[in-house]
Parts: sequence; structure tokens; C-alpha cells
Amino acid sequence: MQFKDVVGHQALKNQLIYNVHNNRISHAQLFLGPEGSGGLPMALAFAQYIQCRDKKPEDACGVCPSCLKHKKFEHPDLHFFFPVARTKAFENTDHEKITSKDFYRPWRELLLTTPYFKYNHFLEKIGIENKQPLINANSCNEIIKTLGLKSFESEYKIVLIWLIEGLYHSAAPKLLKILEEPPEKTVFLLVSHNQEKILSTIRSRTQLVKVPRLNEEEVRQALTEQYGCEPGRAKQISLLCEGDFAEALRLALAGNEPLADFDTFRYWMRLCYRKNVPELLKWVDSISKAGREKQKSFLQYGLKMFRFCLLSNYKASPLVHMEGEEKDFIHAFSPFVNHLNGLQIVEAFNDGLYHIERNANPKILFTDLSFNLARLFAPFKK
Ligand SMILES: [Zn+2]
Repeated sequence: MQFKDVVGHQALKNQLIYNVHNNRISHAQLFLGPEGSGGLPMALAFAQYIQCRDKKPEDACGVCPSCLKHKKFEHPDLHFFFPVARTKAFENTDHEKITSKDFYRPWRELLLTTPYFKYNHFLEKIGIENKQPLINANSCNEIIKTLGLKSFESEYKIVLIWLIEGLYHSAAPKLLKILEEPPEKTVFLLVSHNQEKILSTIRSRTQLVKVPRLNEEEVRQALTEQYGCEPGRAKQISLLCEGDFAEALRLALAGNEPLADFDTFRYWMRLCYRKNVPELLKWVDSISKAGREKQKSFLQYGLKMFRFCLLSNYKASPLVHMEGEEKDFIHAFSPFVNHLNGLQIVEAFNDGLYHIERNANPKILFTDLSFNLARLFAPFKK
């Protein structure tokens, strides 16, 4: 991953490059930003730049032996760690023994597709279903072992830990010790989406690199220039994705999916509003046949629409990033989602998401949700 492939954040790229040229590479850095803002891609580009043998003023060369290995995410001096859990493939292995190394293959495949991936996509790719993935003590042992080895090719050995908030508390002391007294020429690049969940002892031992949410222009430009997205569509997606480039890519690759979500959502809301039970049951039947990920992203879309309705009620319409039919719908629908029922609706949807992630029966879940919504809309019927 070169800096040119990282979306936006030019000032941050300049700063990182400056630090390398001025021998100010801090030995432990925390790339912190919301999902889709590009913390992981930025850390990858930084690692490639540090290890490039023919650094250009604005980017890694892209062609030296080190860069070629980075391109395939297989540089021997770049070590990846991330939260894992025991999956079906490791049914007979003690869960304590499992480490990130066991998942290098799907991890690399994921990066090769794009480092702008969603957390859910990661779970699906490595096959974690209903478990909480963690960076366990054994992964920490693995990090220490890795650091004890001589570096293979590069001056710097780099340990990239994705989602450091997944560090298991009892495993932390091992990592803390090595963060405090790292071997020479070792760089830790930690990536996180959630500052509150990171242990404060980890935070205090790292230099903070903020990777903020992307702005609409950065998303729009990357979609048209790097991904060949048609300008009108790129504009629409940049408004919808709220600075999350993983979401932007999902929308771009899904073709017209946002509108498909919209049609489904609008139809469902109408049925709930009218409490049309026979049609609701048919609708529930069809959504139940969609995959779990699809159901989740649909509920997330619904949450976004409700949020926009609430904003629209608070006369915060300029914040409502929608155009065309979706915007008209929000305008017409917002009187039914208001300060009296809005919170309950959002809670019901969040609840739905929570249970879908835990393999709830989708038929029961969407039926419940439909009747719940019908009940919450009822007092506001015209
Ligand atoms: Zn190079």
C-alpha cells in the first residue's frame, strides 16, 4: 500500500514522511480513527515507506524488492496481529493456542481485495461467527518471540496490531513491557477505531496519530479517480457514506444497492404504518431469506434513515445527506419518527442488529420488529 492509494489525509501523509526523513520515527504509534477513515491503510503505507529502499520525497518507490513484497502484504519484517477466536477450522485446537498467525492467509486475501474493509467483513472472512475475537496472551507471546528474531531484510522491524482495543486484559502486561522497552529498530503501529476501549496504559505509551473521518470531497475524488466511479454516483455515495470509505466501497461495488435498500425500506415502512398484516408477513418471509450480512446492512440503513428523520424534525435538514427520492421520503416520513417514539424505534433496531449478530431467527425478529413499528407509528396516524 503506497500513500497514493490511501484516500485523502494529505497533511497527515506529509507529516509521517517528514518524521521518517528527520529520524523521528516514534517506536510506538497509535493510528486512531473511526471505521473507514483509513487507519489501517495509513499504517500500511507508513510501514511500506519506512521499509522502502528508494524512498521518494512524497511516497515509497513502489518497485524496489521491499515495496514489491509490501504490495503482496508479505514483507518478512512486517508482522501482523489482530483479534482472533477459535473458528470451525480450529475446532480441535485449544483456544488459548490460536494466534493471528493462524489466520494469515484469509487476512492477506482480505488486504489484497482492499484494506478498506468492514469489521463484519473481516469476521466473515476469517470465519468467526458468534465469538468475541481477542488478541490473546499467546498472540502477545508470539509478538515477543518475533521481536527476538533478527530482522530479515529491512533496517526496521515493524509490528502492526490492528484493533488494539481487542487486547485481552490479562495479556496486556506482556505487551506493555515490550512497548516500554522495545528492542532497537522496532516500530509498533497500532490501529484502533475506539479510543475508549483501549487500555489507558497502552495509550499512554504510544504517540497518537489521528486519522479523522474523511470529508465528502475526499471520498468523491477517490471514487472517481481511483475507482473509476461515475461522477454522479460518486457524489451520491460521498453524501451517504458519512466519511466511511469502507462503506463507500461497499455501496460502489453493490451497484444500485442503496436504492434497492431504499425501495425495500420505504415499502416496509408503508406496510407498518398501515398495519397491513398479510403483506407484512409476506415481506418478512422475503427478508428472512436474505443472508445475515444483508439483513444487518439493511437494518443499518434503516437506522440511518430514522436518524435523518429525527434531524429533519429538529430543523437540522442541512445535516441530512440525501438526495432525490430518499430526501423526499425523509421529508414526508419524518412527522412519524419524532421525539416521542424516535428513541424506542432506534432501540428496537439496535436490538435487532444485536440479535441478528447472534444468529437470532430472522423470521421472528422481523415480525416482532414490524409489529413494534406499527405500534410506535399508530399514535401519529393521520
Ligand atoms: Zn520501494
